[in-house]
Amino acid sequence: MNYPRLEINLRKLEHNARLLVKKLAKNGVTVMGVNKVFNGLSETASAMIRAGVDVVAESRVSNLKKLQHLPCQKCLLRTPSPSEIEQVVKYADISLNSDVAVIQSLSREAVKQKKTHQVLLMVDMGDIREGIWFKNREYLEKAVKQTLELPNLELYGIGTNFGCYGTVNPTVENGRMFVRIARELEAKFGIRFKYISGGNGTSYYLIEKGTLPEGINHLRVGALLAFGIDYVNIRYVNGFYHSNMDVNRVVSNLYTLKAEIIEVNRKPTIPFGELGTDAFMKSKTFVDRGERKRALLALGYQDVSSENIWPVDPKIEILGRSFDHTIVDIEDSEKDYQVGDHIAFEIDYTALLAACTSESMNIIFVRD
Ligand SMILES: *Cc1c(COP(=O)(O)O)cnc(C)c1O
Repeated sequence: MNYPRLEINLRKLEHNARLLVKKLAKNGVTVMGVNKVFNGLSETASAMIRAGVDVVAESRVSNLKKLQHLPCQKCLLRTPSPSEIEQVVKYADISLNSDVAVIQSLSREAVKQKKTHQVLLMVDMGDIREGIWFKNREYLEKAVKQTLELPNLELYGIGTNFGCYGTVNPTVENGRMFVRIARELEAKFGIRFKYISGGNGTSYYLIEKGTLPEGINHLRVGALLAFGIDYVNIRYVNGFYHSNMDVNRVVSNLYTLKAEIIEVNRKPTIPFGELGTDAFMKSKTFVDRGERKRALLALGYQDVSSENIWPVDPKIEILGRSFDHTIVDIEDSEKDYQVGDHIAFEIDYTALLAACTSESMNIIFVRD
């Protein structure tokens, strides 16, 4: 098997997902399993399904297509592009929506394909990314009305999202406001929303604190499943969403990135010659630490375009990276590394996304 390699521990992923599904069920909340970081891997989606998730969500239709054989409902986690309505109806049972014209096209296409498509209407409660702005009540009502009236559409529920663009945290206040809007719409149309989808994994801390606003009975959860319960407990310090990498190190042992050594040598720690810029047009400074033992790895930005990787061996230090190489200092390591050996890294969410979307990555699944 070739390198670089990403090892995904499916047993741990399934374990995390099962804990989460149970914990949320106890609070009356249904989990939609978000698989988007894995870029359409059916093995990870299957692990979520085994754990009790019955809807798997992806942001791209092309990824839902890869999951079409799985025994679950599929949700497109992004508003359908007008150019791919046909594919959306074909591969997604549910989609997130905020545009009336798109809802109308979905209905037309669903009639054509003799299918029922479910609409999760998105309301923007302040994070200013997707959704109908919460103050734009007229348009929101129009969208509900259309979804209820148009043929071959079903209203799956009403949803909102936090912490994705505007960095707005889900709170008791904005959650309550959202539920109030949902209740007003229910009263106006004489309906009952099956799902009031109060956010993504960032809402989990409200459940931990026991303050998730009443009425929210659905969350769309990704990173939390992918990195586990502990990760989130630590990450939500004082109710804020921290992307603290040291925290990741402690618990992100579901994933291991491994790269192969292609050169081992001793070299000076400062370059020889007149200095200009590196491959990224940046000038650099170097600290003279004398000659040190180093290894050159066949791993670069083209494989994982992120700085967010850490050697598992704490005695190894990353010196630098370019498109196709990573240079590590192995002087202090107890292991006598040779060409052909592998060096393992822990990774964070950003690096996981990069690794899963990199063509040169060999993804393998472990269950230990
Ligand atoms: C990514 C995404 C989610 C899942 O977010 P996590 O932070 O990974 O839990 C939920 N809803 C929408 C609309 C998303 O784009």
